Amino acid sequence: MVALALGIPRVRRAPSLDGRPDVPELIDGHGRTARDLRISVTEKCSLRCTYCMPEQGLPAIPRDDLLSATEIARLVGIAVRDLGVRDIRFTGGEPLMRADLAEIIGLSSAVADGASISMTTNGIGLDHRIRSLVDAGLGRINISLDTVDRDHFARLTRRDRLPAVFAGIEAAKAAGLTPLKINAVLMRDTLGGAADLLAWALENGVRLRFIEQMPLDADEQWARDDMVDAAKLVDALSARFTLSRPHRDDPSAPAEDWVVDGGPATVGIIASVTRSFCEACDRTRITAEGTVRSCLFGDDETGLRALLRGGADDHEIAQLWRAAQWGKQAGHGMSRPDFVRPLRSMGAIGG
Ligand code: SAM
Repeated sequence: MVALALGIPRVRRAPSLDGRPDVPELIDGHGRTARDLRISVTEKCSLRCTYCMPEQGLPAIPRDDLLSATEIARLVGIAVRDLGVRDIRFTGGEPLMRADLAEIIGLSSAVADGASISMTTNGIGLDHRIRSLVDAGLGRINISLDTVDRDHFARLTRRDRLPAVFAGIEAAKAAGLTPLKINAVLMRDTLGGAADLLAWALENGVRLRFIEQMPLDADEQWARDDMVDAAKLVDALSARFTLSRPHRDDPSAPAEDWVVDGGPATVGIIASVTRSFCEACDRTRITAEGTVRSCLFGDDETGLRALLRGGADDHEIAQLWRAAQWGKQAGHGMSRPDFVRPLRSMGAIGG
């Protein structure tokens, strides 16, 4: 029952190194190399965003199934030292729901060997913890915010916590984590407030990025025909701002940046559904229970926790991770007629 609700995947095929060149990096069979690691540290969240979480929250992962701070840091060390990962991002659920987050970051940054350490968060409670997180080694932060209208925020997230998010944003800026990126999900419900959100972002000196809604909502309401795409957002913003042609400096960076009102400010648009960037994907993921999920949309996960707890050495763990990544699927496949949405929702994977 719990496994079903969390979307714990069916095992489809055993990870294999067959045909893989013997190189240390996390390469896959489609010519890509993963340098960017997302690690989910919990399934718990302080919000219940309709496009992500079920109203009652995700079923709790049994405490013993969650990776500990030490286990997470061991995987970070293997990723950086043995697999060539350069960026580490903690996510969830909501990473601030982990009381030992500073310890996770501290132990991880001690073995990160120059890799960047960042976090994606809703910002709630960040003002009380930012100092300890930065002292532990947190270098960058993205905060998710879909609307600056308090009533709308309460409806969308099923929690009246907008002032707490603003406090978190101010704390991140005051701690010097700038330029601060704000992520907003683009959907029918947020399109109307998109220009207000951009005006607020410009006033507050933060970098706003919209991301097309993906079929990763626990409530399974997403429908291709109903989704708001990047083109509709550009139309909506253009009624109030002058947007000039986008550019993408780094081909693996998902956001296209549009210059606003002649610059220097920009607004990012991540058209993950309609202009897929899968061919340049450089991500690998670890779920809160310690499975490698090489693609957001790939349900065939590979568990590392048993090795971590069973006395395996770092080389064995690295080899299994390499095999899992080698089998990464080519893309999300959303434009295919036979597309089947993944079993896990975004909050259960780690966005
Ligand atoms: N709780 C943290 C937060 O709010 O940023 C981290 C986890 S959250 C799952 C990570 C990101 O995924 C957020 O920016 C959220 O808006 C985004 N997200 C969740 N569901 C999504 C969906 N169905 N489509 C696109 N983005 C989604």
